[in-house]
Amino acid sequence: MTDAPRLMRIALDPSEMEEWTAAMTTVLAEEEMPVEIAPAGTPDAEIDYLVYNYDSGVHDFAPFARLRAILNTWAGVEAVVGKIAWPEHVPFCRMVEPGLTEGMVEYFAGHAMRYHLDIDRFQANSAAGRWDKWSPPLARDRTVGVLGLGALGRATAERLVAMGFRVTGWARSAKDIPGVTCHHGAEGLMALLNSAEILVVILPLTPDTTNVLNAETLAYLPEGACIINAGRGPLIDDDALLAALASGHVRHATLDVFREEPLPQAHPYWRHPGVTVTPHIAAVTRARTACQAITAQIRRDLAGQTLCHIVDPVRGY
Ligand code: NAP
Repeated sequence: MTDAPRLMRIALDPSEMEEWTAAMTTVLAEEEMPVEIAPAGTPDAEIDYLVYNYDSGVHDFAPFARLRAILNTWAGVEAVVGKIAWPEHVPFCRMVEPGLTEGMVEYFAGHAMRYHLDIDRFQANSAAGRWDKWSPPLARDRTVGVLGLGALGRATAERLVAMGFRVTGWARSAKDIPGVTCHHGAEGLMALLNSAEILVVILPLTPDTTNVLNAETLAYLPEGACIINAGRGPLIDDDALLAALASGHVRHATLDVFREEPLPQAHPYWRHPGVTVTPHIAAVTRARTACQAITAQIRRDLAGQTLCHIVDPVRGY
């Protein structure tokens, strides 16, 4: 007699269901997982694994009495932490998958290069018919600071090192990353900001990180610094950034995330010459590679191992 397969439910935004169900069906079959997508109508109490995001509309985990793990399809968890409770014995896992990570690394690498080479300057010179023989410094003479050294920040910092930049990083806890000068804690933040000509922001949103970039901290940046934020909108005090842009202390900002999304049409970031708005596309979870990351988590559970990337509701990420 064989054990009955474990049951999985996919609970995502309705627009994502078809793609994810197809990808998961393929991956479960390819990997011969002892897991089935639960047929429609299966009671919540019979579900073992919940592939989940907040936009599914599932905001109460209590009926899922047999749950072994909640596998979030997003890296960010601020929509859930502190708002929806889940049983202490059920791991709630953030999404870490290669497609998402590679996308984020490419976003930061591309926008950092735009600033490093000052591509906008040549665009303006071309438009004005101006032969301006300015040439950028080498990457080895340019410092890029990375706020957040988790799954996404660390991979970004490593890529920036490979591109030749001087790279500094900041996290909550001490880190040792080859080629990266790592800081932590409040003093570490000031040290990083002091030298960051290009500032990459990839922190999670928690009570501790809200408005981490404000009038006081932005003042530590070197004159003319550029900022790339793909973490979350409320990491930056918008009024302070607009003031820093107006004074020229911050030269330019590329912003992917905002307090309100879509960014309201009346917001001063739209059409601001010092701001590039991207519509929360820096990196997206790719269904195929994400399903493989999810089956890897389930294999760990079936082997009695602790899952990876478990959210700590007290820490907030
Ligand atoms: P992660 O692995 O949890 O890493 C978070 C990093 O932030 C860690 O290095 C952590 O420090 C650091 N951190 C947290 N609180 C801090 C504090 N108070 N002071 C200093 N450092 C702090 O998260 P991730 O997977 O890299 O994702 C980061 C964020 O990216 C997500 O939360 C989400 O908001 C955002 N995101 C955006 C997009 C997009 O398309 N725009 C896509 C995916 C994710 P420790 O290492 O010491 O814990």
